[in-house]
Amino acid sequence: MEHIYDVLILGGGPAGLSAGIYAGRSRLDTLIIEKGQSGGQIALTAELENYPGQLPEGESGLTLSERMAEQARRLGASMIADAIRAADIAGEVKVLEGEKEAYRGRSLIIAAGAAPRPIGCENEARFVGAGISYCATCDGAFFRDLEVFVAGGGDSAVEEAIFLTRFARHVTIVHRRDRLRASRGLQERAFANEKISFLWDSVVAKAEGDGALQAVTVRHVKTGEETVFRASPADGLMGLFGFTGHLPSTGLFTESLPLENGYIPTGEDMSTAVPGVFAAGDIRVKSVRQVVTAAADGAVAAVSAERFLTERQV
Ligand code: NAP
Repeated sequence: MEHIYDVLILGGGPAGLSAGIYAGRSRLDTLIIEKGQSGGQIALTAELENYPGQLPEGESGLTLSERMAEQARRLGASMIADAIRAADIAGEVKVLEGEKEAYRGRSLIIAAGAAPRPIGCENEARFVGAGISYCATCDGAFFRDLEVFVAGGGDSAVEEAIFLTRFARHVTIVHRRDRLRASRGLQERAFANEKISFLWDSVVAKAEGDGALQAVTVRHVKTGEETVFRASPADGLMGLFGFTGHLPSTGLFTESLPLENGYIPTGEDMSTAVPGVFAAGDIRVKSVRQVVTAAADGAVAAVSAERFLTERQV
């Protein structure tokens, strides 16, 4: 007979791993499914500073998530690497169709996360974690007294640019249009900030450097003219932060769950509109997307899944 888990967890980032820790500890038959290495977006962060209880002398996103994964395993959660291609979540048994096999569960926690929209410049992937970042809260402090560029013109780009002025010597916002999308209040704060300047009608075309980011090419979208901005030899490094929006990983659920701007709305208990289906972490509608809030969501979702299963047995 086909195995039916108590809880399927889709996604092995902090939300999914935390859900696995709680579900495993509750002796629920739990499977975490992750398509790549566990850790999710946080595995891209070179150095963490703001996760409570992390190794104080320095911790990478990868080492923290590896310990979370080990903890989940030790408490009884199983893990498998597979890419899910289809999901049938309407019935009492939820089915995830992977490339390797199909997985069945009496409940499902969706913790598949969201990915930052790429800046779209040449060599982008090469410099992620070595000058290019999508998280000012995570990485801003590494650019103390350095030149920083920000791509985007929405609330995130402007808010994070203002935040980055706490560290950076100067912040240049590169925006593809001649006016910002960000709210008026944020715009006024940015225009009044002496450490922020703007390159209008412009996009980042190319990132370059010897191991770390040392030059950024900006292209004017109307004239096609390209300008190269180089880190001074004394700095040896510059920053490029991308805030061009996020892409929630909800493609599997567009037909089966109501979405808000692509994200999954949940209750306080992480429940979705479908009984037995919960969502946790960056994939759900929320205001603060951080490792600590993802981990908290995962814990709540696992407790809610356990309650759902207990109530259904009555
Ligand atoms: P967003 O509002 O979608 O803005 C994305 C920005 O990136 C836009 O300025 C857009 O340009 C630009 N962009 C998109 N694709 C691009 C590309 N391929 N190349 C260059 N630029 C590109 O995303 P967000 O700023 O992350 O905000 C997401 C949501 O969260 C919004 O609803 C926002 O209001 C909300 N939010 C609120 C706050 C706050 O209230 N304090 C803070 C952060 C976020 P165009 O303007 O030309 O489209």
